[in-house]
Amino acid sequence: MSKGGCKVCRVRRAYDLSTLDETLLERWQRDEDRYGYRRLATYINASILETELERAGLYTPETAATALYEGLANDDPAVREQLEREELPLERLESDFVSFGVVRTHLQECLNAEWSGRERTTDWEQTTLETVVPRLLDRTHRALESLQRREELELPEAIELSMTVSCSSCGESASLESLLAEDAWCACLENREAESDDRQDTGGSNDNAGEKSNVATDERRSE
Ligand SMILES: [Zn+2]
Ligand SMILES: [Zn+2]
Repeated sequence: MSKGGCKVCRVRRAYDLSTLDETLLERWQRDEDRYGYRRLATYINASILETELERAGLYTPETAATALYEGLANDDPAVREQLEREELPLERLESDFVSFGVVRTHLQECLNAEWSGRERTTDWEQTTLETVVPRLLDRTHRALESLQRREELELPEAIELSMTVSCSSCGESASLESLLAEDAWCACLENREAESDDRQDTGGSNDNAGEKSNVATDERRSE
């Protein structure tokens, strides 16, 4: 970690978000309606926008700032136009917006925090993920090394196996760890979340193709 912390640390100072860390931890660690990294990133970015709007003399509640941020992130021309009219420094704002990856770094490395929610469950699903998957990866690893010793296969000096889940629709993939920790790890899930908010009254069917997913082990070079 560079001196002065990560990008979240930097924007927290630049936008005077004095209660940011407390709110991040509270929303990340609570039992009900807990936020994953992506939702936390949206929260941070909406707070950045809220501060900038306040600096321009426009008090904006969190929900409204979140909607504006999402409009901006989804390239909604009406939102962009509205913010340009208020003469907000969009270029600077957009370069200050954080990604979910840096939120994870901030929570785990800068704040040294953990989410212990998973440890509380003792069901077979969890056991599978925590013991069967590592064992499978380990056996696969040993099989590959054995093939290499028999010169039936060539491997780089060091390899790392991991289990990833990828979305068949958008191609985005996530490790099991982030799958369990996040609400919406691909764009399709984010869209579905937004849609289900819209459809709450209509009860329409939702056969989003993003529900299909592939589970695959992939082989990567270790750094
Ligand atoms: Zn940080
Ligand atoms: Zn997707």
